Amino acid sequence: MPYTAGRHFLQIPGPSNVPDRILRAIDHPTIDHRGPDFAQLGHDVLNGMRRVFKTKGAVMIYPASGTGAWEAALVNTLSPGDKVLMYETGQFATLWKNLATRLGLQPEFIGGDWRRGIDATQIEAKLNDDKAHAIKAVCVVHNETSTGVTSKIAEVRKAIDRAQHPALLLVDTVSGLGAIDYRHDEWGVDVTVAGSQKGLMLPPGLSFNAVSEKALAASKNAKLPRSYWSWDEMIGPNKTGYFPYTPATNLLYGLREAVAMLEEEGLDNVFKRHDRHAEATRRAVQTWGLDILCQNETEHSSIVTAVLMPTGHSEVAFRKVVLDNFNMSLGSGLGKIADKVFRIGHIGDFNDLTLMGTLAGVEMGLKLAKVPYKKGGVEAAMESLTENLIKSNS
Ligand SMILES: *Cc1c(COP(=O)(O)O)cnc(C)c1O
Repeated sequence: MPYTAGRHFLQIPGPSNVPDRILRAIDHPTIDHRGPDFAQLGHDVLNGMRRVFKTKGAVMIYPASGTGAWEAALVNTLSPGDKVLMYETGQFATLWKNLATRLGLQPEFIGGDWRRGIDATQIEAKLNDDKAHAIKAVCVVHNETSTGVTSKIAEVRKAIDRAQHPALLLVDTVSGLGAIDYRHDEWGVDVTVAGSQKGLMLPPGLSFNAVSEKALAASKNAKLPRSYWSWDEMIGPNKTGYFPYTPATNLLYGLREAVAMLEEEGLDNVFKRHDRHAEATRRAVQTWGLDILCQNETEHSSIVTAVLMPTGHSEVAFRKVVLDNFNMSLGSGLGKIADKVFRIGHIGDFNDLTLMGTLAGVEMGLKLAKVPYKKGGVEAAMESLTENLIKSNS
């Protein structure tokens, strides 16, 4: 393969572009994970992640992809045959449901059309019907990466409270954490699942559980077999900054740097930056005359925009044109929307000009792939960005 000049544009909604500061932080000798220097690193990342999750409770860090943390959340809190209430927001919710089934749980899956987020009143109705409290957990996805829809977790909490139901609330924010506002304690979440390679800007390989007191108590009686994922095994060593088995030491260097970067910018500013980029992206897509998959104005994801291809046009072919001509990767359509939807990732280490490069690549790609569109999307996105700047500077 000949050299391709310039950086690859990795505009999928995770893994996201890893900033140089994090790459430099990872690029240090691996230390003894049982030696004296390790404890400081352990404390730094565990405390740092508490601040990112906005929790005073325990945080577990696994050397695993997000899927591992999904499994950890279930096996630590539930027993074979337990009923769990899940909600079909898209492909990731579907995969978590399949995982629950394979573990021997009994998920009840509230159906969805993949174009809007969670309707909390449906959860409330199911819980109201469950007088015997057979449902042990409500499991939902905060930011559904396959559809570009962000659900309102505080509403789900309120629904559970209105039904006065004791079920645990388990939330996947693998693609939201560090990019979209998230409040583990305030929203009364019992287990939050997250991963390293999306909003946290790290390479793949770490995942997380943030755990409430109620979830810890449930874990004492939970009977699903667990060993590698066991919170009990983690909590002891974590107290002194250590791990029960070899942690991903170099990724933890990166994680410490990522938390520092998020806090230097300020989490609220990070969230606003993602909001602005998402808004500009939507302006571009609307100007092109293409449809955004998310149909609810208040649920647009700030980290990814899923775009419907005009009928008769393949997103696979379109993304190949973009990759071949502009060295940019866009997200594919997943599950039942495969070849119908492409996704523009605007997540992580990303600024106004990276966004403009990304949108220019999409607009040029539409032309080269002979997809019908109206010109001016890039222009409209620039307008959106500058209007926002004028507003915030005045
Ligand atoms: C990426 C993602 C996952 C899965 O994470 P892996 O790291 O691929 O195992 C789960 N849920 C959501 C919402 C995601 O975006």
